[in-house]
Amino acid sequence: MKFAIVSKGDERSDQITSTLKQHLIDFELVYDTEQPDLVISVGGDGTFLEAFHRYIHCLKSTAFIGVHTGHLGFYADWVPEELEKLVIEIAKTPFQVVEYPLLEVIIRSKSGGSEDRMLALNEAAIKTADGSVVFDVEIKGEHFETFRGDGLCISTPSGSTAYNKALGGGIIHPSLEAIQLTEMASINNRVFRTIGSPLILPKHHTCLLKPIVDRSFLITVDHYTETYTNVKSIQCRVAKEKVRFARFRPFPFWNRVRDSFVAEDDTTIPE
Ligand code: NAD
Repeated sequence: MKFAIVSKGDERSDQITSTLKQHLIDFELVYDTEQPDLVISVGGDGTFLEAFHRYIHCLKSTAFIGVHTGHLGFYADWVPEELEKLVIEIAKTPFQVVEYPLLEVIIRSKSGGSEDRMLALNEAAIKTADGSVVFDVEIKGEHFETFRGDGLCISTPSGSTAYNKALGGGIIHPSLEAIQLTEMASINNRVFRTIGSPLILPKHHTCLLKPIVDRSFLITVDHYTETYTNVKSIQCRVAKEKVRFARFRPFPFWNRVRDSFVAEDDTTIPE
């Protein structure tokens, strides 16, 4: 089996990375940063997002796993003290794979018909640095509302515990192929009106945002922000691609939610 490791880059993560790499090579696994079967992130959730985007070209054949070197991560759920156990588990292939849905974002430009396609593991957040964003929101080709406010966050089920949660969105189990739209400070008065609640769209229900006021948009996909001008539309839907997590032991989603946000507990909540 071929593996790669993505480190957060701090001293501790780099040290754990080199120990892990050496142990796996001792077990005759092959270190391959081009087409790995398994990508191990060593750091936090931010490092996991970085690893996901680095290997986005080989999602079909690559599985991901995270070791956290800081506080408990949502994606990075192995601790450095478990390294030996993890190495032995990895050496005993094949591992179990759990697939989670991703978000597809297509940004179309007014000029030249160019388009940018991106995949998000957590979310896409659309804001502007100049005033409010004003969009016509279409769902499945029908006008739904005109949104005016700070912005919109469109998240995946596994990203529903991240920015989406801070915006008052619901937590969605990743076995549901869906995306969620959450508002950032919408303006609601006698002139402007939005639904005001998070919206959960199933697979095949495309959401199209059409800017009414020409702004430059700050579009953040997971941890990476880019500025877009001349935007004709931003299309969001459940992607056909999925992310594959390597599972060496059960760690049900609701346990992760509880351990991250409520309190650690020894009991296991079934998937
Ligand atoms: P960061 O260093 O600002 O970390 C943000 C926090 O989000 C970290 O504590 C991380 O552990 C946590 N996180 C990331 N993905 C998560 C998930 N799926 N479920 C639960 N918690 C999660 O930024 P970063 O490490 O580069 O991560 C980028 C992510 O930060 C974005 O994808 C976004 O979801 C999140 N974010 C959150 C807020 C907020 O909560 N107000 C604001 C901006 C961005």
